[in-house]
Amino acid sequence: MKKFYLFGNWKMHKSIEESVSYAHCIKNEIKDEAVIVGIFPPFTAIDRVSQILGGSNISVGAQNMHFEEQGAFTGEISPLMLKELGVKYVLIGHSERRHIFGECDEIINKKMISALLHGITPILCVGETLKEREEGKTEIVIKEQLEHDLKDVKNKNFIIAYEPVWAIGTGKNATPSQAGEVHRFIRKELVRIFGDESLIDTPILYGGSIKVDNFSELSQEKEIDGGLVGGASLDCLTFLKLYEILRSQKMKK
Ligand code: PEP
Repeated sequence: MKKFYLFGNWKMHKSIEESVSYAHCIKNEIKDEAVIVGIFPPFTAIDRVSQILGGSNISVGAQNMHFEEQGAFTGEISPLMLKELGVKYVLIGHSERRHIFGECDEIINKKMISALLHGITPILCVGETLKEREEGKTEIVIKEQLEHDLKDVKNKNFIIAYEPVWAIGTGKNATPSQAGEVHRFIRKELVRIFGDESLIDTPILYGGSIKVDNFSELSQEKEIDGGLVGGASLDCLTFLKLYEILRSQKMKK
């Protein structure tokens, strides 16, 4: 059966106390696995959130990860450290990492390989800037990101998030047809890169200014397998509304 996902990226928000109260708010609200739900707190809160959500239907993810297991990498967090905290998913190549912190495809590729090796499911984020879209380069950019980031990746247990940079945190979301078109392109590219038709079924989430007001329409698009939500995931009740929207849309399929 096809799986659908709702992931909340809290970015650099929430104290430990706020994270704990959110975890209690959501803990008993996800009753089944019709939609796979995950929250991505800041590193400082992962341990407490993970303990509260243990045994629930909600997974905990990390927003970033270094590719090495240990070493002289001041300020970094390794896959082994994340495993110790019960982390199941990790965001790799989020546009804020690419554009603010200069993370390049070579590093992203190493992180992908490392996460998969350690049994943490990576969510590879790809997307074009506004300038690239306006210049008609969306497909070229996505193709290059996928080719570089997935180089020598053998394990196919990853998720893709299409997150147009111009839609992240801007209040301006892609239309369902814009997202659908890029998702179709991504599927085609995955099949080509891996030479494997089964990659057509890779989960592809949309991310970029998802809100309660636009999520119903977005989640009706058949190419969209769920959402990676930033700002609108910060409030527990809003995130639960998004969950209900996705659940009711996808149960129809
Ligand atoms: C994100 O952080 O991945 C994101 C999509 O943010 P927002 O929903 O705030 O645009």
